[in-house]
Amino acid sequence: MKKSLLLVTALFFGLSLLVGFGPAPVQAKTTFVTIGTGGITGVYYPTGGAIAKMVNAKRTEYGIRATVESTGGSVFNVNAIMSGDLEFGVVQSDRQFQAIKGMAEWEGKPQKDLRAVFSIHPESVTLCASVDSGIKDIKDLKGKRVNIGNPGSGQRQNSIDALEANGIDWEEDLKAEQVKAAEAPGLLQDGRLDAFFYTVGHPSGAFKEASAGATKVRFVSISNVDKLIDKYPYYAKSFIPVAQYPGARNDKDVPTFGVKATFVTSSKVPDEVVYAITKEVFENFDAFKKLHPAYAVLTKEGMLEGLSAPIHPGAMKYFKEAGLK
Ligand code: GLU
Repeated sequence: MKKSLLLVTALFFGLSLLVGFGPAPVQAKTTFVTIGTGGITGVYYPTGGAIAKMVNAKRTEYGIRATVESTGGSVFNVNAIMSGDLEFGVVQSDRQFQAIKGMAEWEGKPQKDLRAVFSIHPESVTLCASVDSGIKDIKDLKGKRVNIGNPGSGQRQNSIDALEANGIDWEEDLKAEQVKAAEAPGLLQDGRLDAFFYTVGHPSGAFKEASAGATKVRFVSISNVDKLIDKYPYYAKSFIPVAQYPGARNDKDVPTFGVKATFVTSSKVPDEVVYAITKEVFENFDAFKKLHPAYAVLTKEGMLEGLSAPIHPGAMKYFKEAGLK
C-alpha cells in the first residue's frame, strides 16, 4: 500500500515535470541586453529607461534583463550596435537612413545588419542662444561661439545642414565647438558659448537647464527649412513649443525642422528578444505614453513610420500578430 502510494506520487511529480504543472515556469537563463541612449539631460536616456522598465517587469516570463547606458548619441549607438557592444539603441531617423544607405559618417559603408524596431517621439533641431549675443536668426551665428554637437551625436550633422542651407560654413564662419549636449547649457550660462544646437524631443532637461539660469536665453528660428526638406528626404517641418520653457525669452513657437527618434538593433539579436521588447512596449502603450511628456503625440501606427532599415523579424512577428502590418 505504502509502496504503491510512493510510486503514484513519484509518477505524478515525474509527469508534472514533463508536462509543466506546478509553479509558473521561470526562465533558467537570463539574457542581458544594453540599450544605448544619449546624454542624461536628453530624452533618449529616459526613453531607454522607460523601455527597460516595461521589459524588466516581465523578467521571470522572458528571462531578459535590460540596462541603459548614457552615450554620445545616435552615431555612437549605431556603431556600438554594429560592433556588438550594445544590443539596442535610440537613433535619429535621419541617422538610421544614412547608416543603412552608407551616407554621412558611413559614406560608402552601408551598415547592412542594422534593423529597425519601432519609432518613438519627434525631435526638433533646436537652436538656443543667449539674449546678450544678439542672435535672433540662424544667419546671426556668423563669427559666434556655437556648439554644433559632439562627434557621435545625431545633432552634429543637423547643425551643419542647417548652417549650410543658410550660407554658413561651420569651419570658416563660426567658432564651432563640438562638446556633448549635456555640457552646453552650463557653457551658455557661463558666457563661454553664444549658442548651441541640440536635436531633441521636448521638453528636455537640457533646455530646462539652459533657460532657467541667470543668463537669459531665446530659441532661434531656422530659416530656409523648405530648402532642407527639398534636399533631404528625412527632414520635416517642426517647431519648438516655447511654453514648455517659461524662462526662455520667446512669446511664440519657433519654427525649425525635425526628425524622429527610433529604436534600432542588429540582425544578430535573437528574434525572441526583439519580439518580447516590442510586445511589452505596445501592449502597455498607455502606460508607456505616460512615462515622458514628449510621448504625448505617439500612436501605435505612427510608431511604425520613419523606419528605413529593414524591420527586425522579431518586431515584425509582433506587428503581424497585432494587426499593425
Ligand atoms: N538626438 C540626439 C542624438 O542623436 C540625442 C537626443 C537625446 O538624447 O534625447 O545624439
